[in-house]
Amino acid sequence: MCGIIGVIGHEDVSSEIINGMTTLQHRGQDAAGVVMFNGNFRLKKGNGHVNEVFKDIDFKTLKGNCGLGHVRYSTLGSTDAVDAQPIAVNYPYGLAMVHNGNVINFKELKKTLYEEHHRLLDTSNDVALILYTFASELERKDLKHLKVDDIFDTVQEVQRKVKGAYSALTIIAKRGILAFSDPYGIRPLVMGKKYTDQGVVYAFASESSTFDYLGYEMMRDLRPGEMIFIDNNHHVYERIGEKKQQAFCVFEYIYFAREDTKIHNRLVATERVRMGKKLAETFKETGLQPDIVIDVPNSAYFFASGLAENLGVPYRRGLAKNYHMGRSFITPNQEAREKMVKQKLNPIKDIVQGRKIAVVDDSIVRGTTSKRIIKMLRAAGAKEVYFVSASPPIKYPCIYGIDMSVKKEILASNYEISEIAHYIGADAVVYQKLEDLQELYKDLPICHACFSGQYPTGVTKEILEDIEREKMESNRV
Ligand code: AMP
Repeated sequence: MCGIIGVIGHEDVSSEIINGMTTLQHRGQDAAGVVMFNGNFRLKKGNGHVNEVFKDIDFKTLKGNCGLGHVRYSTLGSTDAVDAQPIAVNYPYGLAMVHNGNVINFKELKKTLYEEHHRLLDTSNDVALILYTFASELERKDLKHLKVDDIFDTVQEVQRKVKGAYSALTIIAKRGILAFSDPYGIRPLVMGKKYTDQGVVYAFASESSTFDYLGYEMMRDLRPGEMIFIDNNHHVYERIGEKKQQAFCVFEYIYFAREDTKIHNRLVATERVRMGKKLAETFKETGLQPDIVIDVPNSAYFFASGLAENLGVPYRRGLAKNYHMGRSFITPNQEAREKMVKQKLNPIKDIVQGRKIAVVDDSIVRGTTSKRIIKMLRAAGAKEVYFVSASPPIKYPCIYGIDMSVKKEILASNYEISEIAHYIGADAVVYQKLEDLQELYKDLPICHACFSGQYPTGVTKEILEDIEREKMESNRV
């Protein structure tokens, strides 16, 4: 999972891009990078948070009226800075790209790129597969008289060849900026605009909260298979390319996106309250009577408040959080993650002592977080602890960019709910029901592959094995 931003304006937009990237920081903290176009590409990227990577930046070296930014959460591939995004090529055309998502048929694409186009990859980042496929297809066009239709035909060919989830932004040197989505619209991408004295400025970003901060008016979400090209004269062209039924990643609402972001006209905070309220129905079936509902900060707050409201039980903040730590899951391996949970959370004793507590988190994946939290709550005197997961049991790996590890490490793919309760030390575990989640999203077709194993793009056993192998090899579990 990653965050992306692209802007095409009239004067230098580099500081706007970097500032915008800080609002996407929750989407990835491994690396950050920017490419600006000003007759030439200017590229700067490195490992770490946006503020670290761009701490000593001399803006004179990074100017341009058009640029792209990326924050990285590596799911596959190495965590080396050279494998960060953006990446650029000069042949057959000056092109630079960022993307958010995950390419699944990487083996096949690598082979085709080499055998048919004599291109070797010089990075393990899957954006290279998209960019090189795009470049190879573009090469077939009349580059001297490149038309917008040629660009769109090229994207459409990419959509046919590249399988997986991708929301991508591309600078086409001296021509403009291009945004496109995979045929299923799995990952979010929104378009916005604002007016300056020089005229209209357009931007694309993974989340609408970036626009709130930068003062853009939110225009709309990209649709499945859609491509939008904005030329240097700020004319906007659109086409729907390869299109399938949408399969928007519901985990964006559950965990990933910021609460003040709107995707597909739904505010994330409101979605979480709705899910929390729905959870109350399942919770009531257990007959359990908690004294208070608490959340695992931060992403679970809205679920917890919705659950508490519908249970008629007070909500309290029962865990204090050290806000200066990153997200524990977005750390590249298990050892680092375990250490981080301890550093990050501490029970608020008077709130939890002697009480029966329903503690809500967005999900249980390996059980690392829940196990530690329950241990802490008991040590602080909690009488009983019911662990509530806002998402249904995660049983299958995500192959579209959310790092959920390999199947053998995913708790619910190997154990029943009662065994999970025992493993994490809870008096009970309550999960959202998949059918309830589907009911909440009957107007927006969602990807629920991590709960159901139904991968919308289709996937072969071989591809699943390839992905698992890559994860193991790149020490991602
Ligand atoms: P685990 O400790 O392995 O059970 O993971 C669950 C915790 O990690 C929860 O507290 C979530 O907030 C967080 N989380 C779950 N899934 C993800 C993900 N794919 N990426 C980042 N964080 C996640």
